[in-house]
Amino acid sequence: MGNISVCCTGKMVYINVAVCLLVLLLMIGLSVGLSVNTFKGRDALDSAPLIDGHNDLPENLYEKLNNNLSAFHFEDDLSNDDVWGRTACSVCFTDLPRLIAGKVGGQFWVAYTGCESQYKDAVQRTLRQIDVIKRLIKRYPANLRLVTAAADIETTWKSGKIASMIGIEGGQSLDSSLAVLRLYYELGIRYITLTHTCNTPWADASSVNDGSVYNLTEFGQKIVHEMNRIGMIVDLAHVSHNVMRDVLAVTRAPIIFSHSSAFSVCNNYRNVPDDVLHSVKENKGIIMVNFYSGFVNCNSSRNATLEDVVDHINYIRNLIGVDHVGIGADYDGINSVPEGLEDVSKYPDLFDRLYENKEEEPTWTKEDLEKLAGRNFIRVFQAVETVRDSLLSEPPREDIITGNELYIAQKRAGLKPGECQTADEWKNINPILKTE
Ligand SMILES: [Zn+2]
Repeated sequence: MGNISVCCTGKMVYINVAVCLLVLLLMIGLSVGLSVNTFKGRDALDSAPLIDGHNDLPENLYEKLNNNLSAFHFEDDLSNDDVWGRTACSVCFTDLPRLIAGKVGGQFWVAYTGCESQYKDAVQRTLRQIDVIKRLIKRYPANLRLVTAAADIETTWKSGKIASMIGIEGGQSLDSSLAVLRLYYELGIRYITLTHTCNTPWADASSVNDGSVYNLTEFGQKIVHEMNRIGMIVDLAHVSHNVMRDVLAVTRAPIIFSHSSAFSVCNNYRNVPDDVLHSVKENKGIIMVNFYSGFVNCNSSRNATLEDVVDHINYIRNLIGVDHVGIGADYDGINSVPEGLEDVSKYPDLFDRLYENKEEEPTWTKEDLEKLAGRNFIRVFQAVETVRDSLLSEPPREDIITGNELYIAQKRAGLKPGECQTADEWKNINPILKTE
């Protein structure tokens, strides 16, 4: 360009300017062309963290090793391991090398205790699972870091570590106690799934299908309000469709589905019906899509594939928008995964496939893929924290579930009510109810 200022004739200046412009245009064209040609869907996972809403590895640690981590080699590729490999274990899909290959940037590790522990030792068993997750994170400081605030997800991921968050799956872990709920938060838990496969005394599970036993009771509403107040994310995976509706009507913060898919695509009651999807949009929440074969493909005559998961993601996006969908694969909590999504190393293939932008499918831009990967979840987490901060002046709730409610629930569960209970709420139960 320097030539322009020293040129002697006007014609020469024009030629030089024209050549410079041409070169400039060529360079712009080349760089645009190159970036269009070489960008793959998976590259979005380099500019935004991939956050998966649900992984049940901790439950496998309990089942297989009674939480003895000295016998667990998370740093190895366990695909062909005698205990953790594909042939030895139908529910094992996770290790560090495959998480890294899968570009996972954030993971909710799940503290789960089964419905058999309800009214018994659910709190103690949940505490053990929280403990094993924390020990696992500490054991691999170069790869994992405990994260309890939305703002720390991205900084942790940028430092090359997986932002490791903890969720509790199943309201039985609360033992119907707001005190237990608050202390779980202090231990670093950031979401609680209101039920697992069994009803709690205050909320129905998806297993009631269209029916209703409790729906969300008044005490259930108080639990939701206290979760809002302290900043615990409400997770509606596993609850009945009516409980989804009830919670969405009373919650003051956005909710998540940590691992659920679309009911209209696969009519399983674990999935989310359209009217609830619309409410989630209004609520500014998110559905993190589950990969379990039985939830993504209701056609038992064929195997589920990656294409089925694409269908669920695109269905939700088309109905309520790209801001309300995420990933919650449910690895290690399921025994059947789609072809093409065989373990935690496969997420990038899903993002490549979405970016193919086939005809009659929504067009995925890099920004859209970043939202799906993790930005939507971070937005929801931040919003829950904002609601918490706005409610700072509200005192902790002192509500206690009634003995009658517990009595009826335990009787329905086939237990001898109150057998192991010593708490105050068991005093002075109406003797008439005892005859039910
Ligand atoms: Zn689950």
